[in-house]
Amino acid sequence: MNSSKIIGIIGGGQLGQMMAISAIYMGHKVVTLDPTADCPASLVSDMIVAPYDDVDALRQLSARCDVLTYEFENVDADGLDAVIKEGQLPQGTDLLRISQNRIFEKEFLSKKAQVKVAPYKVVTSSLDLEDLDLSKTYVLKTATGGYDGHGQVVIKTSDDLAAARQLANSAECVLEEFVDFDLEISVIVSGNGKDVTVFPVQENIHRNNILSKTIVPARISDQLAEKAKSMAVQISQKLNLSGTLCVEMFATDDDIIVNEIAPRPHNSGHYSIEACDFSQFDTHILGILGEPLPPIRLLSPAVMINVLGQDMEAAQAFLQENPTAHPHFYGKLEAKHNRKMGHVTVFSDVPDSVEEF
Ligand code: AMP
Repeated sequence: MNSSKIIGIIGGGQLGQMMAISAIYMGHKVVTLDPTADCPASLVSDMIVAPYDDVDALRQLSARCDVLTYEFENVDADGLDAVIKEGQLPQGTDLLRISQNRIFEKEFLSKKAQVKVAPYKVVTSSLDLEDLDLSKTYVLKTATGGYDGHGQVVIKTSDDLAAARQLANSAECVLEEFVDFDLEISVIVSGNGKDVTVFPVQENIHRNNILSKTIVPARISDQLAEKAKSMAVQISQKLNLSGTLCVEMFATDDDIIVNEIAPRPHNSGHYSIEACDFSQFDTHILGILGEPLPPIRLLSPAVMINVLGQDMEAAQAFLQENPTAHPHFYGKLEAKHNRKMGHVTVFSDVPDSVEEF
C-alpha cells in the first residue's frame, strides 16, 4: 500500500517550511502556494507562485494535492470553499472564519467552548465608548486584520480616548478589560478529527509585541497548567480539530483567561522540534491526514529564542559559544528589522540564564 500523499500548503513562510519538513520525513510530497518564489518553503517543496487569493492558483493547488492546509489564518475562506474538493481541507474553513474575526472568536470561546475570556463588548462606533468606567483599564482591538499589537489602543485614562475613538470609527472593534496577568502562556493542541493530543504549557515573553522567548514548562503551578491544558482540549473538541492549534492565554495568580486562538502551528511551539518526542509540525501533518496521534512527552525543559533581522550577528556569536544550542534559520534572503529569520532552542532548566538576543 502506498500511503504517501501530496500535501498542499497555502503560505510558504517558516511555518509552511517546517510543516513541509515534517511531511517529507513521513514520506509525503509537498506543493506550496506563495507569492514569493524564493520563500522559506521553496527550499523543501514544489512551488506555485501566485497571490494567496488567486482562485486559479488555488484551483491548481487543489487539483495537484490530496490534502490541503494553511500556515496562516488570513486565507480567503470563501475563495477556498469555492475551489476545494469535498473533505480536502480537514481543518475546514469555519475555523478560519472564527480566528479571522475577534468578534466571532470571543463569541465562540465564551459561549460555545465555554472558557473564560476577559470581559468584552463589541464596538461598532465611538458612540459605544461613551460612559466608559475609567476606573478600569481596557484594550480596544480591531475585529479583523490586527496582529502583533497593531490595530490596538490601551485605554487607561481619558487622554487615551481620542485615539480609541479614531480606531472605533475606522473599523469594527472589540473592547476588552485589561487583564492584570502574571504571565502570558500558550498551549499547542493537535487533533485528527476524533482525538486530540496536547503539548506542555509554554511561557511566552514578548518584546515590542513580538514573541522573543518561550520557556517550557511555563513557571506556573501544576494546577494552573492542568487547567490551561484542559481548556485547550475543550476548545479543540468543540472544533472537531484537525491539525495543530495554538491557544494563547493569560495566567493570573489563580486563574487562566483565554486571549485568542491561532489555527496552525505557532512560534511558541517551535521548541517542540527538539524538546518533545513529536513536534507541533509532526502532529499537524498526522492530524490533517487523520492518523493516530501520540501522547506528547517533554524530553527536556527548554528555552526558545527568536532570531530577528537585527539579531543575526548576536545569534551567530551565541551559537559559537553554545554548541549544544539547536539553530534554525529559515533561509530568508533579506534580514529586515523585526523579521523572523530563525530561532534557537536550548535545553535548560534555568531559563533566566538564557538571554534574548
Ligand atoms: P493580541 O493581538 O490579542 O495577541 O494582543 C497582543 C498583546 O497585547 C498580548 O500578547 C498581550 O501582551 C497584550 N494584551 C492583549 N489583550 C490584553 C488584555 N485583555 N489584557 C492585557 N493585555 C492584553
